This record gives sequence, C-alpha cells and structure tokens, in this order.
Amino acid sequence: MNIILFGPPGAGKGTQAKYLVKTLNNFQVSTGDMLRDEIKKDTEIGKKIINYMNEGKFVEDEIVNNLMKKIVFNPSKKGKLIFDGYPRTIQQAKNLDLLLTESKQQIDFIFFLNVNKETIVKRIEKRKVEEKRSDDDLDTILKRYDTYLKTTSPVLDYYSSKQNFYKLDGNQEIDQINKQIKGFLKL
Ligand code: AMP
Repeated sequence: MNIILFGPPGAGKGTQAKYLVKTLNNFQVSTGDMLRDEIKKDTEIGKKIINYMNEGKFVEDEIVNNLMKKIVFNPSKKGKLIFDGYPRTIQQAKNLDLLLTESKQQIDFIFFLNVNKETIVKRIEKRKVEEKRSDDDLDTILKRYDTYLKTTSPVLDYYSSKQNFYKLDGNQEIDQINKQIKGFLKL
C-alpha cells in the first residue's frame, strides 16, 4: 500500500508514518529526514541546502525530485511507500504522479491532517525540546507555516477531489488520529 500523509509542519505526519511503517512493514519516505542526512554527511547537496533548511525555506524541487526517483524505483520498496513531507509543491506532486506511472504504482490513500496554527506552535515547541531541531524555533515555525500556506495549500486542491483523499482533524490527540487512519485502512 502506498500512502501520502499530507499537512503542515507539526501536523503529526512523522508520528503516523512511523506507526504505519511498523504495522504495514512499509518504508517511511521523509524528504526532511533525507535532507537532514545530506547535511549531516556534509555532501554537496547538504552544503547547498543547509541555509534554506535553517531558514524554514523549501529546498529546490529538482533536488527533492531527484532523491525521490531513487526511492520510487527501488524494487524492494515498491508498493510499500509512506510519503511524509513530499510532495510539497504542485511541481513535486506532478513529478510523483509521473514516477508512479513509470514504475507502475499508484497512491492508495491520501490522508490530510488538518491542524490550526495554535496546535502547530504547541507541538513544535515540544518537539524542539525533544529532538533539538535547528529549524524548530518560533520564528522559523511561523515562516514554515507561511510557506506551507503559500506553496503547499495548492497541492491540497490537486489531491482533494481524488476518491482516495481523506481529511482528518489533526488537532485531535495522536491516538485518536491513529484510530481513524486504522479505520480507513481496515487494520
Ligand atoms: P520536515 O522534516 O518535513 O518538516 O522538513 C524540514 C525542512 O526540510 C523543510 O522546512 C524544508 O526546508 C525541507 N524539505 C523537506 N521536504 C521538502 C520538500 N518536499 N520540498 C522542499 N523542501 C523540503
């Protein structure tokens, strides 16, 4: 089963992705984690993106699209992808469609975790203490939320008319959201 978890930063995509990975034996595809790894390893890509990431700006489509190609075409991951944080722009959504068609795959479920700004700020302030992420300070959170509204919201329109699109209230407790996802997946 290929699933997209969609929503603003702090919506709980990563938490739900980890649950689905464990339960379905799938793979989490977090572009954020992949990009942080490039920075940690100080690769060419890492050097190029470090400032964007720290400022809460998006990394260029071309960079994330290239990273995605390797994952989608990996035969051991075929039909077992949990997308967390990708796609984030229309260009990325179109690229994903193309990659899936070329590799004879499809998206089975799209879960939109809809959260308000207050919940996001609360959750990210908590995560900042737990994970010490450099892009989790209040200023950057607000910038990331603005970027989401401007750039990622149109992606919502791209997906929301699809039959396998499900909108969930992401302000609920994590367990509650999890229960709803399990219900849709019949787990
Ligand atoms: P995340 O861990 O998903 O919250 O992502 C952290 C940061 O990584 C974002 O604020 C962006 O700078 C970058 N990033 C992650 N995924 C993408 C993406 N799909 N497109 C562009 N930038 C991304």
